[in-house]
Amino acid sequence: MRKALNPETKKQVVARVNYYREMGIHDFYRQPLPESTGGGLSEQGPQADDVVASGRSVTLFDSPLPVIEDRPAALKAIRADIGDCTRCRLHKGRKNIVFGVGNVNADLMFVGEGPGADEDEQGEPFVGRAGQLLNNMIAAMGLKRGDVYIANVVKCRPPQNRTPEKDECDTCSPFLMRQIEVIRPKVIVALGAVAAKNLLAMNDSMASLRGRWYDFKGARLAVTYHPAYLLRDPRQKKEAWKDLQMVMKYLGLKAKAGAPSGQ
Ligand code: URA
Repeated sequence: MRKALNPETKKQVVARVNYYREMGIHDFYRQPLPESTGGGLSEQGPQADDVVASGRSVTLFDSPLPVIEDRPAALKAIRADIGDCTRCRLHKGRKNIVFGVGNVNADLMFVGEGPGADEDEQGEPFVGRAGQLLNNMIAAMGLKRGDVYIANVVKCRPPQNRTPEKDECDTCSPFLMRQIEVIRPKVIVALGAVAAKNLLAMNDSMASLRGRWYDFKGARLAVTYHPAYLLRDPRQKKEAWKDLQMVMKYLGLKAKAGAPSGQ
């Protein structure tokens, strides 16, 4: 009779399966258990490294989980999993799926809300007016757009650029989580409330979310205003600059000469 995995083993199996999925490996086969392992459970019961199947136990993982070496291949596998997605209603109006762009080894990753018209047209995040401002913000931090990685919570343009609905975010955000696991940035900057609330699973106001660090998947996460909001209310740029300075301090970045007026 098949028995349940103990929680620690289950955690290891889930981590291992997710790792292989990142690598684009989706099919798994159970190896026949050697006869020598057929004596049943040890007296201590199931151990952390045991898989319990058919009442027998075997050592599962000899090595720690390897880090993802081939990040481009891992990202390609995630993109392939998205496919020609119809998982939510946003697919109906989109021209292009906007996956993500940038340096796969980036220390810094920006996460926005979802593509607008320009992004939908070109299949790349933050290429419209808000994207120009984001580029300026990146430059003010002493970086180039190509130094960072940029992605969104939802990969398809919401109609009339409306805010993506919760179920749309919930459907799409697992792909963003996997992108983050592959890039493994030191810092994630959530641009605006949709990105912040989805990543942090918190419903607080922007005012209370900003100005502090969060731990997120081994990275530090900071929240700042969305560039589209800064275009509507440029007085908030100095607040956003404070958020970026906190990030720069942690990453040891020097501001471009003239910043923040360069924004
Ligand atoms: N706004 C976003 O949140 N993402 C984009 O890619 C463009 C605009």
